[in-house]
Amino acid sequence: MATGYLTHPSCLLHEMPFHHPESPRRLSAINDALVESRLMPYLDVVEAPAATDDQLARVHSRDHIEWVGSRAPASGWFEVDPDTFMNAHTHDAARHAAGAAVKAVDLVLGGEVTNAFCAVRPPGHHATREGAMGFCFFNNVAVGAAHALAGHGLERVAIVDFDVHQGNGTIDIFDGNPHVLFCSTYQHPFYPHTPPVTGHDHVVDLPLAAGSGSAAFRRAVTDGWLPQIDRFAPQLILVSAGFDAHIRDQLAHFDLTDADFGWVTEQITELAAVHADGRVVSVLEGGYDLVALAASVTAHVRALMGV
Ligand SMILES: [Zn+2]
Repeated sequence: MATGYLTHPSCLLHEMPFHHPESPRRLSAINDALVESRLMPYLDVVEAPAATDDQLARVHSRDHIEWVGSRAPASGWFEVDPDTFMNAHTHDAARHAAGAAVKAVDLVLGGEVTNAFCAVRPPGHHATREGAMGFCFFNNVAVGAAHALAGHGLERVAIVDFDVHQGNGTIDIFDGNPHVLFCSTYQHPFYPHTPPVTGHDHVVDLPLAAGSGSAAFRRAVTDGWLPQIDRFAPQLILVSAGFDAHIRDQLAHFDLTDADFGWVTEQITELAAVHADGRVVSVLEGGYDLVALAASVTAHVRALMGV
């Protein structure tokens, strides 16, 4: 069965000022790389719908949904925080980014594709139940996970997050929810400056020091994530797929390579094959060096496709 590839034209129109690294060029680089590597013809390309209010409200307050919908300016920018801005297209893009995760869950659980990658922006994993921050407006992966639980009746969903920043929004949203296992590696101390989570049954939160490379990352995944995922036996695995832990990425200080992203994806797909009929939904988070992003996403998608 195929791998789905979900995106939407509005995700190219959300733009932030001052040569912001979270730019539409990221999606162009990914698209070009998948064409160049000749993977694109084998992907099941699907246009992402917009997430509905009810789908968003499973993880965000109605106030937050209304706030994002009403703040996008007709022209220029609205400043959410010193790193995060909205233009006229931001709300539309954020709706479709979250809708991509919902649609990907539908496709995977409906048996139309084995797994899927959502090439969308704005990213999502810093968005909390009540707030936008850190380039994020709606928590795309959380919206997808909640759709799998509430919309499809699943009981156990795992989310793995290998972005170099802690997925503080995802932790906030699923705090105390026994149906979601959250596994994360990230640089610490670093943005978003939230404390590591310890002693929590459903959060495997593994901070690593600046300068961490392949060996430290693979050890954390092998010893930390994989046994917990195996024990949890998820019916679906979602991925917060950030590629800013790459050695070339200037926004953080990890030393991972393209091969590490391929490797971790293989670990995820192998556990998904054991517990979840192979079902994986991956959603783009960070990754700001365009060369590294293109190569890393290619390795990630190749592993999802099993080639
Ligand atoms: Zn990040």
